[in-house]
Amino acid sequence: MSISENIKRVKDSLPDGVSLVAVTKTKSEDEILQAYDTGHRMFGENKIQEMVAKWEQMAKDIEWHMIGHVQRNKVKYIAAFVSLIHAVDNLKLLNEINKQAAKHNRVIDCLLQIKIAEEESKFGMSEEDAMALLTSEELKTLDHIRIAGLMGMATFTDDRKQLSAEFGKLRTFFNSIKDTYKLKHLSMGMSADYPVALEYGSTMVRVGSAIFGARNYQENG
Ligand SMILES: *Cc1c(COP(=O)(O)O)cnc(C)c1O
Repeated sequence: MSISENIKRVKDSLPDGVSLVAVTKTKSEDEILQAYDTGHRMFGENKIQEMVAKWEQMAKDIEWHMIGHVQRNKVKYIAAFVSLIHAVDNLKLLNEINKQAAKHNRVIDCLLQIKIAEEESKFGMSEEDAMALLTSEELKTLDHIRIAGLMGMATFTDDRKQLSAEFGKLRTFFNSIKDTYKLKHLSMGMSADYPVALEYGSTMVRVGSAIFGARNYQENG
């Protein structure tokens, strides 16, 4: 199937109100254009340099989402245009995003990444850490960022029970705080597990290979 057929199929499978971040990492401008030409505008990258290069080259009505881990010293390269940063997991990073957003007179939406996978991962916060951040006095002083929701990555497994447990835990946490903190987005689900994530209330899925085909490089950089 072609990229345009794939993206239509994935979109048609999403309930109303769920957004699709089409993940374009390692994919060429030409491949991205095939998705763009179907009318799709929300794309995601996990590397700063790659996202900046694509933003520079491509149509400016694309909404670029940074879905990967962000190093503080690189925030300045994306602050002018990024529309959502999915994987924020500490206050120092939020401070830097706030500082860079201020320079561009912007308010940048961010999601807090919550660790839900059983696998050892360097990134993501515990629910306790997220609560400490959300209730901190310091957060209230950051006028150029907005915590717009939560993001999570499940264990890489086919085990439905485990996926259900992990997504379910994040949904429970999200539902318990979303009204108080005005959270809109629950970003969870990738090519292999997004149907399960949808059952657990995902409002935003990040799908790459199911649209653009397999990538031929080592993940998790
Ligand atoms: C690569 C990536 C995705 C998409 O992965 P696929 O399995 O290709 O759909 C989603 N989220 C993050 C954070 C990623 O790095």
